[in-house]
Amino acid sequence: MTRVTLIPGDGIGPEVTAVMKDVVAATGVKIEWEVQEAGMHVFERVGELVPASVYESIERNRIALKGPITTPIGKGFRSINVALRKKYDLFACVRPVKSIGVVSSKFSNVDLTIFRENTEDLYMGLEEEVSPDEMRSIKVITRANSRRICVAAFEYALLHQRPKVTVVTKANIMKLSDGLFLDVARDVAKDYPTIKLQEILVDNMCMQLVVKPETFDVIVTENLYGDILSDLCAGLVGGLGFVPGANLGKDMAIFEAVHGSAPDIAGKGIANPTALILTSAMMLRHLGHTKEAAWIEEAVDTVYRDPANFTVDLGGSLGSTAIGLKIIQAMDELKGNAYGQKTVG
Ligand code: ATP
Repeated sequence: MTRVTLIPGDGIGPEVTAVMKDVVAATGVKIEWEVQEAGMHVFERVGELVPASVYESIERNRIALKGPITTPIGKGFRSINVALRKKYDLFACVRPVKSIGVVSSKFSNVDLTIFRENTEDLYMGLEEEVSPDEMRSIKVITRANSRRICVAAFEYALLHQRPKVTVVTKANIMKLSDGLFLDVARDVAKDYPTIKLQEILVDNMCMQLVVKPETFDVIVTENLYGDILSDLCAGLVGGLGFVPGANLGKDMAIFEAVHGSAPDIAGKGIANPTALILTSAMMLRHLGHTKEAAWIEEAVDTVYRDPANFTVDLGGSLGSTAIGLKIIQAMDELKGNAYGQKTVG
């Protein structure tokens, strides 16, 4: 049995986590969830957003599935998500964005994966107050970190037989920093002669994505552009309730959906757990449970082919638990088809 650190987190985190666990259990894969509390509700109790025991658990298991953790806005708090990625050098943020069922009436064939550099750029926390009227943020781009994210993107493209990697920068303005990232992408591309490198500036990329998203395969970019493009792409396929994600390092992985803690809908039973369910499929695939991961993804696609199954965020009526049950039922049928027998009641 594989042990995984499970951090339900804040806001809608516990609600969507509970549904995700049921779906994973229904695949038949035995996961021992080591539940660790972190987030604002813990801060209010013990004065720390992430207690030491959480770090110990992640370091022991080397794999975690994490719900959203709210970072209080203002001075004195660094984002826990950023801190975790930095602490464990989880340099690759991987976000597959795929059209699901008939969720989007505008785009039905989006199938792209974003590789976002996770450890540097404007996320270094290097800010200074020059005077009360002038603040500075320092952007850091290094050759080594640019190289490993570009290599990860090209390796992924090769493995998944994707013909193109699109590198997104603003190298015409930030000639040194973004210029370096672009140079590295060009250099890495030479080692992958079967894969085309497409170069696009980030502003143009936003336009291209909302006009013809189906033309993109793998996108590799810096930290901030990756953050923004991820939310934009989520909008193409139904919103934040539908996009999974993983933060990958050399020998550690933390899986988390793109969405935040959504305090506006927390506790109402209407949060869409699909993003976290798809995130669990990414985790199962990472653990080698390819078949079970595909069951989940197929079940999700099947369920959302019927608008009667639409969740509240899509203007439908299904809440968190109800959509989870639908996905489990659909998976049950898939498993039945695969084995010629029903395995989940
Ligand atoms: P954070 O700062 O914690 O990352 P955020 O400000 O980026 O959060 P989210 O918490 O992701 O924002 O929420 C943005 C909007 O999307 C909110 O209106 C929220 O209700 C909605 N939303 C996010 N996740 C979901 C979900 N899983 N199901 C339904 N709606 C969601």
